[in-house]
Amino acid sequence: MSSLANTDPEVADIIEMERLRQTNGLELIASENIVSKAVLETTGSILTNKYAEGYPGKRYYGGCEYYDIAENLARDRLCQLFGAEHANVQAHSGSGANMAVYFSTINYGDKIMSMKLSEGGHLSHGSPVSFSGKMYKVVQYGVDHETERLDYADIAAMARKEKPQMIVCGASAYPREIDFKAFGEIAEEVGAYCVADIAHIAGLVAAGLHNSPIDVLPFTTTTTHKTLRGPRGGAIMCKQEYAQAIDKAIFPGLQGGPLMHIIAAKAVCFGEALKPSYKEYCKQIIKNAQTLAATLDAEGLRLVSGGTDNHLMLLDLSDKGLTGLQAENTLHDAGITVNKNTIPRETLSPFVTSGLRIGTPAITSRGMKEEEMKQIGTFIATVLNDIENKQKIAAVRKEVEALASKFPIYAVTE
Ligand SMILES: *Cc1c(COP(=O)(O)O)cnc(C)c1O
Repeated sequence: MSSLANTDPEVADIIEMERLRQTNGLELIASENIVSKAVLETTGSILTNKYAEGYPGKRYYGGCEYYDIAENLARDRLCQLFGAEHANVQAHSGSGANMAVYFSTINYGDKIMSMKLSEGGHLSHGSPVSFSGKMYKVVQYGVDHETERLDYADIAAMARKEKPQMIVCGASAYPREIDFKAFGEIAEEVGAYCVADIAHIAGLVAAGLHNSPIDVLPFTTTTTHKTLRGPRGGAIMCKQEYAQAIDKAIFPGLQGGPLMHIIAAKAVCFGEALKPSYKEYCKQIIKNAQTLAATLDAEGLRLVSGGTDNHLMLLDLSDKGLTGLQAENTLHDAGITVNKNTIPRETLSPFVTSGLRIGTPAITSRGMKEEEMKQIGTFIATVLNDIENKQKIAAVRKEVEALASKFPIYAVTE
């Protein structure tokens, strides 16, 4: 028995139940992944014990000599991975990374232009319920309602009219490649700062499978736990001229002591992402997403924008008479975890929605390939096409468990 099971069986039981849930089900939430044993080991290490306020070589606490090595390693590896001039790896989260970019550039009350949450954007890009919507004026662009893709001429026209101080690009639920160079040109024309938030697609950018914002925009923010497959956290990359302002905005601007066990685990994650096998992993994520999308399409389900370029797809369930909420709950009963999601021209509340977001990073980490995607697509369609049929749902659950058992969670990424 582990010492946790002895000392706190209540929490040990929770972890074990969750381990079984992760092992026996299929995780299709686009923002989730399964970290390597090395990342897991580092997040659970003794590096959690110590304060290290400040930055390498300039700490407010003694005894940070090994923490300095860890943080420098994480920063250097991140710069190498993306070709960035400067990296801050202390951001506790993606939202905090965005906050630091705003704090180091624009003023309270300035105008942010960003993508609508309901059409793919993120809360931290100016939603009225987020600090970003409360502190700044916000104007938002969406996707073209015909193509369901970004229209850069429309975005440029909006920027000329609105003259924002900050343009945010990047999304949480957009299945197509984003043209960062186009955003850079628009921002330059209207004299705005521009940040690319690559929280979702960071891995694909690192692997060279999606165009990179690093050379064309001054700021790039990311999470480290989505396609990058590291510990939960954030990171910022920027041009050298903004390095000091970004570092100050994170600490002491909005955070206290860094989570050094997480920063060391970020170093491990970036090290993994620098290996050739990581590029193969990312290629497979996209192949899997495209195979799954094609299967769902063939089963008569409508894909927003008709398909995917990246790791995720959005299903529009409105013509099936289903809500995202119903679909999420029923697929959960079948052992498949997804999330309801708003879609372009959404008519329902964000708690109900007409759509479903489906992503392949986690199942690809388990080693699944095109053949399994076809199976999973059929599972999803079977459930959604006969949503009241309890027997069918139970039968799919058995098949899901059988498939999951062939791909044990830590067999591939370790
Ligand atoms: C997930 C996400 C974030 C936020 O990350 P947290 O770590 O949950 O704060 C920010 N931006 C985008 C586009 C995201 O998808």
